Amino acid sequence: MPKTNYKNLEKKLTLQKRNAWEVWDDKTKQSAFKFSEGYKKFLNQSKTEREAVAASIELAKQAGFKDMAGVKSLKAGDKVYAVNRGKNLFLAKVGKKPLAQGFNMLMPHIDSPHLDLKVMPLYEDENLAFLKTHYYGGIKKYQWPTIALALRGQVYLENGKKVEINIGEKDSDPVFMITDLLPHVDRHGATDSRVKSKEVLGEELNLVVGSIPVKDEKIKEKVKLAVLEYLWNEYGIKEVDLASAELRAVPCEKARDLGFDRSLISAFGQDDLVCAYTALTGALDSRVGDKTQIIAMVDREEIGSTGNTSVNSNFLETFVSDLSELVDGEDDLDQVYKIFSKSRAISADVTAGLDPDYKDAFDVRNTCRLGFGLAIEKYTGHGGKLGTSDASGEFLRELMTLFNKNKSIIYQLSGGMGKIDKGGGGTIAKYLANRNLEVIDAGVPLFNMHAPLEISSKADVFCVYLAYKAFLEN
Ligand code: MN
Ligand code: MN
Repeated sequence: MPKTNYKNLEKKLTLQKRNAWEVWDDKTKQSAFKFSEGYKKFLNQSKTEREAVAASIELAKQAGFKDMAGVKSLKAGDKVYAVNRGKNLFLAKVGKKPLAQGFNMLMPHIDSPHLDLKVMPLYEDENLAFLKTHYYGGIKKYQWPTIALALRGQVYLENGKKVEINIGEKDSDPVFMITDLLPHVDRHGATDSRVKSKEVLGEELNLVVGSIPVKDEKIKEKVKLAVLEYLWNEYGIKEVDLASAELRAVPCEKARDLGFDRSLISAFGQDDLVCAYTALTGALDSRVGDKTQIIAMVDREEIGSTGNTSVNSNFLETFVSDLSELVDGEDDLDQVYKIFSKSRAISADVTAGLDPDYKDAFDVRNTCRLGFGLAIEKYTGHGGKLGTSDASGEFLRELMTLFNKNKSIIYQLSGGMGKIDKGGGGTIAKYLANRNLEVIDAGVPLFNMHAPLEISSKADVFCVYLAYKAFLEN
């Protein structure tokens, strides 16, 4: 018997983790860098869900997508979109086969952790005016004080007008900030029983917004009134109007290259705009396939997918019913559920990258790395697999076989976030699984997820774009 070559056998049988930067040729590397320029632009335009929808429609229109509301019928190759309450954008590229045979869908979310203003946010204390916030999504609160924040959103006035607010993005704009104690008066529990100086309470996330009082001794809260006078003169806003507003504080910082080699991107909101952008551009660039391709950008993922703009809104059913009517001539709900049962979806969401400074938080054998490509997560959830949909083996196999056909698509495999019983997190996958779609999580690994600035690798961003496009086309 010939002697076994174990070097060859190892290569054949063991799973090789691959760094895209090492695998790719120069041309592919250049394509990844070029792709990231459009991504950074998109990030800077999309710091709220409404802005992400608007920026996406802009790109979709340029690629020939039309508002579905004005469409009478659809045939293979047609491209349409529909918007729900300004916060969901669903797009479809009609396939060659009937919709009844199922669709391929990418579902990213376009909400990111941030600070919403409270219903009654404005107050004065010690001759300073503040706006109180209520954090949205799972943040580490200590990361948000002492950084420059912008104020963005809309205020709805009694006269029916909508006022757009966007302060802090231009270099000449003022910014806002949450304060923190100086170390000199905060030595290890000096202030109270909180021994961790990193701890910041939700009620302490208050923005400093002014300090000049009005000149009138009869007024009690002079700085607060001065802020209201400014808001009235500038925007026609009264204090009560701040209740009927959707205002939020987000980091002012723009998307930037990170590192000497510029291989990484630092930006706010990459969870989950990175998957929204790669899904969208994947669909804009995709070939018309047998199956209809759907991109469904949802909101409210970061607060548990509740609400009429979340994955749990039946806007998905409405959209697919409308498509079914226009493509197949059938629009009843029963048919929609039959279509779901034949459809495949990727919950297009980010996951944790292995951070060498905090290896203890991870099972290093089952964690994704920055630069190692598309992160496919068989399941998310918590210890005991609580709250996960856990993708089927055959669907995972199908995807791996598909991605293996394109040498530039590098992917990595994992399941769960962090160590068992210590970490965990959910995505929208389970809500699609409950509707009887085949679904798996796959997206970009990040550092600093949910922090004011998150880090991605340009290699992963490009891999994910290629993989999403391949998924849609096949
Ligand atoms: Mn996410
Ligand atoms: Mn998240």
